[in-house]
Amino acid sequence: MFLLHTCCAPCALPLIDSLLRERKPKDFCLFFSNSNIFPDEEYQRRFQAVQTLASYYQLTLVEDQREHQEWLTYLRQNLAKPPANYQENQARCLRCFEFRLQRTVQFAQANHFQEFATSLSINLYKDTNFINNYSQKLAQQFGLKYYQFSLTPQLAHQKERVLNQKLHLYHQKYCGCEFSYKN
Ligand code: SF4
Repeated sequence: MFLLHTCCAPCALPLIDSLLRERKPKDFCLFFSNSNIFPDEEYQRRFQAVQTLASYYQLTLVEDQREHQEWLTYLRQNLAKPPANYQENQARCLRCFEFRLQRTVQFAQANHFQEFATSLSINLYKDTNFINNYSQKLAQQFGLKYYQFSLTPQLAHQKERVLNQKLHLYHQKYCGCEFSYKN
């Protein structure tokens, strides 16, 4: 079984389309593990968009517990400066990816998944080298296989624009946490 860590519906959409070319819907599961998202209303909006996606493609969706305080504590313990003192795409974001990917592999191992991937890995605005390398490292530690998509972030972005013309999924205006918050 295959677990797809799903950061948001727009990123997951082209990946689901690509996975369904070689797998059946029952062969994989979406895992919404995003304790970074702030505030609650935004979390609900993004989760509802992923629910729409799962129901459209008839996929199983698991929602992780939202542990925002635990996420903040992880950042504080693993950064030299307070989280607010970093710009987007600096060290704070790397710790944020670590937190969500660690929870993904823990869930995968506990629930007998053999393989996992993350929609973070095709995000145009993220350090995808770090995300892929860190995921490979976790896969080795946890005895899992990490699946790296052949889609480039640019191609995934173009495919998402086309596929979303039918679904009209919610597009967020900011990355996710209180440090990147825009209303
Ligand atoms: S800006 Fe985005 S990636 Fe960076 S810490 Fe916040 S939610 Fe995580």
